[in-house]
Amino acid sequence: MSTNPSQDQFFDYLFIGLGAGNSLMLLSLLKNQCLTGKKVAIIESDEKKLNDKTYCFWAHETDDLVEDLKAIISYQYTHIELPKGRLQSIQHQPYCYIRSIDFYNYTLQICEQEQFPIYRIALEGIYPANDIYQVSTNAATSLYAQTIFDSRPPIPQQLDKKEIFINQSFYGYHIKTEQAVFDTHVFEMMNFDVDQAAYTQFIYVLPFSTTEALVELTRFGKEKINMDYARKTLDEHILKNYGTYQIIADEVGNIPMTTYQQASATHKGVIHTGARANLIKPSTGYGFKNMYVFAQAISKKIATNQLKELHQFKLPTKSRFQFYDRLLLIILNFWPHQGKSIFSSLFKHQKIKTIFDFLDEKTKLQQEIKIFATLPLVPFLKALYLYAKQEHLLRYLLLIVLSITYLSLNAIDAHIAAIFSYATVIAGLLFLGIPHGAVDHLLLINKKSSLLIFILKYLSIVFVYFVGWHFFPTLSLCCFLLFSSFHFGEAELKESNNMNHLAVSPLSSFLLGFFILLTIIFSHYSASAQIISFISPGIKQFLFPLYWKFFALLIVLASCLYISMAGYFKEGKLPIALLLILCLGMLLPLELAFGFYFIFQHSYNAWQHLQLGLAIQPKGLYMQALPYTLGAILVGVVFYFFNATSILQLSHYAGLFFIFLACISLPHFVLMHLFYKQRFQ
Ligand SMILES: Cc1cc2nc3c(=O)[nH]c(=O)nc-3n(C[C@H](O)[C@H](O)[C@H](O)COP(=O)(O)OP(=O)(O)OC[C@H]3O[C@@H](n4cnc5c(N)ncnc54)[C@H](O)[C@@H]3O)c2cc1C
Repeated sequence: MSTNPSQDQFFDYLFIGLGAGNSLMLLSLLKNQCLTGKKVAIIESDEKKLNDKTYCFWAHETDDLVEDLKAIISYQYTHIELPKGRLQSIQHQPYCYIRSIDFYNYTLQICEQEQFPIYRIALEGIYPANDIYQVSTNAATSLYAQTIFDSRPPIPQQLDKKEIFINQSFYGYHIKTEQAVFDTHVFEMMNFDVDQAAYTQFIYVLPFSTTEALVELTRFGKEKINMDYARKTLDEHILKNYGTYQIIADEVGNIPMTTYQQASATHKGVIHTGARANLIKPSTGYGFKNMYVFAQAISKKIATNQLKELHQFKLPTKSRFQFYDRLLLIILNFWPHQGKSIFSSLFKHQKIKTIFDFLDEKTKLQQEIKIFATLPLVPFLKALYLYAKQEHLLRYLLLIVLSITYLSLNAIDAHIAAIFSYATVIAGLLFLGIPHGAVDHLLLINKKSSLLIFILKYLSIVFVYFVGWHFFPTLSLCCFLLFSSFHFGEAELKESNNMNHLAVSPLSSFLLGFFILLTIIFSHYSASAQIISFISPGIKQFLFPLYWKFFALLIVLASCLYISMAGYFKEGKLPIALLLILCLGMLLPLELAFGFYFIFQHSYNAWQHLQLGLAIQPKGLYMQALPYTLGAILVGVVFYFFNATSILQLSHYAGLFFIFLACISLPHFVLMHLFYKQRFQ
């Protein structure tokens, strides 16, 4: 591959595609004078000679978007028609209509004026070549560029089970009626007075004159709308509502509605735009306005030379809106017929201004609560349940229920509460805690030794460490704190970056895990001191002098702060679940606080990571874990009886249990670290 392009082949900016996303980007870059003196070219495989879409959006008269595109906005509807012929004014934010052909011609004309060449070829690949990029095309031409704006359609992916993908498919007629039946100021967004066919289906009407309009049948659902069915339904609707008519043109289209987020470009000089940059709102299919805002943000950054991580730039969003989108898509995917009642309630109870603000993600939480309060409850509860299941959140619900049960029992009878807490921890360990460590034999990629040798080596490490506890308890305890901190932190960070193939820093892993452990230990000051004094009286003196109680509180607070910050800086979101477990743990006895963290957070997450990394279904993984789980229980029982009478005289059950856990954890920690490194980096 040549890396010395000729002057003709090299461009400062190369636009791949000249649809909505890149046209808006190009206009915005010109407006901000980013293209002055630069070499610019466009690769667009289509002639762009057809009016294949309509671009509609609501906007204030004074918005930059309206100002910038005034020349090609054909219509501005100032009223919306609601069920039963009710009209509502949207004068504050008219609904603007742009014919796609007008937009294409407008941009093409500007390209001509600016003398930006347009290559009518299709891009095939982008390859880094030193500090620039080479693009290969379906023609012999190879072009090179410093910066590329890539608006090719999103790459189809094999979607994860929890992702939703449905279609917003539509078929419409541009009609001319005999009678003057339309008002050119009024459009209809969602008329549900049509057959639903077990989907969410509605009619969308954009008048162009008193006798002309675009009348479209839209379906939200997994299956796209069938043309013959759409023609028949449209015909019935038009005849019933507007009388006899003539078809001038038709429009067919499909907008994917998905929770799936395309990954950003991996090359620094390649910036995704349009649908490829996830700018289409999943629950509505509207994206034009977002693309404009995105183009403005990117061009301002380029104008002010803020180029760092530009290819990773995302429009700031509030995560709760992604959550709402997801709930709605779950409903439309699993119970599509429910859409009619949801949207009808929305339009019945809310002002259009509120709905527009909500769809623009500009409402406040109180407003959103009011909106949801007027929507049918059952489908949202069902969607919430599925969401919680998909996101593995039901465990936290169980955790809260168990905590409340413990606290209630404790208020009645402390003895029964103690039995309950131990029974809960033992059950959790049997079903999750131990099994997550009982598939270690599957983790080695280079299986040079036989299973028997592996087990012998594994048990030898456990045994040597156990002997170490006997002779050097303080050192063994310190080792345990070090490696378990690293192990817990590593699993947390892997979970928080969604198991993306990103390296996590060992220091961050250690610090996060260490602070988690300190939070649990110091928020149960006396109980921890008691257990540690059985293991290592020396370290007890050091860690738990009585006057340090005050500092312990500080350490707990600092730990919580660190954990929140670690999560915040890593992914831009707080590790709420982790904080919930640690805070809830402060109300519970030590065995529950640690047990709940270990079972519901650490082991549960690791179990999911193992399923993903080993590509084994939960049932299969359980079967693989079963013999070793039973083996670990056997070792535990032998260990307990051996030590109950041994010279160690560790009469304290929790201390014994702690040592047992530490011993079987050492080889597990090493293997899990290698597993994360080999499969997720
Ligand atoms: C029928 C329809 C109607 C819509 N109406 C609205 C609406 O009213 N309001 C709204 O907000 N959103 C609407 N959307 C959603 C969204 O705004 C549009 O899909 C928008 O066009 C997406 O912009 P884009 O740049 O990502 O893709 P496009 O506009 O499709 O542009 C991509 C361009 O890349 C070119 N291309 C693709 N592959 C290659 C290649 N390999 N080499 C070179 N060129 C290539 C294509 O020819 C195309 O011109 C609509 C979508 C559809 C499908």
